[in-house]
Amino acid sequence: MDCLFCNIIAGEIPSKKLYEDEKILAFYDIAPIAPVHFLVIPKEHIQSVDEITPENSAILSYIFEKIGFLAEKAGIEGGYRVISNCGANAGQTVPHLHFHLLGNKEMNWNC
Ligand code: 5GP
Ligand code: ZN
Repeated sequence: MDCLFCNIIAGEIPSKKLYEDEKILAFYDIAPIAPVHFLVIPKEHIQSVDEITPENSAILSYIFEKIGFLAEKAGIEGGYRVISNCGANAGQTVPHLHFHLLGNKEMNWNC
């Protein structure tokens, strides 16, 4: 499958990894918009939030159970933002479900 993030999971495209296990990969964004900016992705290819079903939704709780640990591992202090862009209007550029973690920056609500 020609998916950028599936290729990163497969190791065909290098990435700076923060964490990996059998279900998820966390790696630093190539174009960070905060002092700490990494992505958390499921290893299973799911296009976006819009493609979450009763059959694949368990990965969401798994990811969110890990997020606090990952934020701490990345050295985030003082809180963080979790974002998932879904579809064209939201600016999703990679059609493989991912959660952006942004930290070590004071953020306002209009990004
Ligand atoms: P989206 O715009 O779909 O919400 O987020 C995709 C993110 O993936 C962007 O923030 C972009 O900088 C990041 N990205 C795109 N290509 C690569 C890559 O090859 N390596 C890494 N580490 N990040 C990438
Ligand atoms: Zn994929």
